[in-house]
Order: sequence, then C-alpha cells, then structure tokens
Amino acid sequence: MPERLATRTALAVSLAVLAAALLAAAMPGADRADGGARALVAPGGDDLSGHVVTIDPGHNGRNGANPDQINQQVPIGNGETKECDTTGTETGSGYSEAAYNLDVALKLKRLLREAGAKVVMTRDDNRGVGPCIDQRAEIGNEAKSDAAVSIHADGGPPSGRGYHVIHPTKIKGLTDDIYGASKRLAVDLRDAFGNVTGLPRSNYIGQNGLDERSDLGGLRLSDVPKVFIETGNMRNGADARKLESRSFRKKIAKGIFEGLKRFLG
Ligand code: ZN
Repeated sequence: MPERLATRTALAVSLAVLAAALLAAAMPGADRADGGARALVAPGGDDLSGHVVTIDPGHNGRNGANPDQINQQVPIGNGETKECDTTGTETGSGYSEAAYNLDVALKLKRLLREAGAKVVMTRDDNRGVGPCIDQRAEIGNEAKSDAAVSIHADGGPPSGRGYHVIHPTKIKGLTDDIYGASKRLAVDLRDAFGNVTGLPRSNYIGQNGLDERSDLGGLRLSDVPKVFIETGNMRNGADARKLESRSFRKKIAKGIFEGLKRFLG
C-alpha cells in the first residue's frame, strides 16, 4: 500500500475506534458494567507484591503467668513509661484474647501472602511472654512496613457491642509523621471490616467505629502507619459467640485483609 494511503487508512481506523469508545462511554449501562467489574477485584487490585505488612497479635499466652516480666516499665516516648504488656481479656466461656488474636493473625497472614505481600509477625505462637509494646512497634519500624495492624478483641462492658479501630492522636515528635496515614488506614479498615463481617460499629466507645488515643505505646513509637483493631467485645455474649466461631474468624481476617488492600492500593 502506498504510504500516504496507509496513513489515511490508519487515521480513519483511529477515528472509528475513538468514536466507538465515546459512544460506549455515553451509553447508559456502560458505566455500570465497568463499576461491576471493578467491584469484583477490590479497589487497588489483588496484587500486593512489593508491600510489607506487620501483623501484631496483641498479648501472649504466657503473659498472665509472668507478671514480673509483663509489668516491667518500658519507654513509650517523651520520657513516659508503661507496662511491657498486658494479659488481654477472654470470653465468658474462657476463650482467651491472646489465642484469638493469634488465630486471626495467622489467617490474615495467609491471605496477605497469597496476595504477594511480605508479612512480618510480632509473635508466631501463643506460648510465650510479650514481646513488650515498644518492641512490637520496633519490629514494624525495622521491617519498613507499609502498614502495621495490631489485632485485639476488647474487654468492654457486657452490654456493649461492636468493633472499633484505634488510631494515634497527633503528638509532636512522636506520631505527627504517621498521624494522617494512620487515620486513613483506620478509616479503610473500619469500612472494609464492617462490610465483610457485618458486625456493628462499637456502641460503647469511640465514634463511628473510630477511636483516637494518645496512651498506646505501640502506636506512639510507630514510625509506620499503624492502628489497633478491636474486632469485637469479648465480654458481650452476641459478639463472643461470633468471635468463638472458627468460620467467623475467617471473615474477621478477610475483613482486615480487605481494609489493608484498600489502604495499600
Ligand atoms: Zn487486647
């Protein structure tokens, strides 16, 4: 084909493609089809390769038996100190928060690894003591995590239901560098966690499923975006029944996973 004719043909084809694209965009339903397809793959996509996530399962199975170790004071920034760690709570039937946190953490770890993320854990079993809260923060910092999440279940009033996400208040020289990103992480987690699990936002603490706190060493010492998620209230019968269910804990992990995906994407 002569060169000029080829160019003209290519131009005509390009215009036809452009016209078709404009027509498709203007058609009602085109938008909806696109939105539907996007909803299937979560915002940001499924590929988390290149991302580092630190999972911090709160407390540890032997904390209660070692009060001297977990009551020792550790630095939490600005010259203040706090206990190394605490025992955590349990359900009415005696299912410990420490065991629950680890189970959810391991399920979450699997989901993140399958999506290609690098996962760092602050503890891998439920047979130890600690680590102390300052070490938990340091592990996330050293890993240069893109996000860190501390997993808990609350010991709230028996009448109180629901989950909430705790993010750090802005403290000059401590959390001012991670305040904004941690709040975004908190909002993403809150939204995705509620969608996936169907659990209600807390009706006894915080506001709209969020609580900003200045006293948690694990948040004060973090140099990477970090939040605590209180996934439910173990002292409430309705919440406890859910948290005690192995199949429901899969949903809990999935809810956290989807929140992290939203944040990292
Ligand atoms: Zn806890």
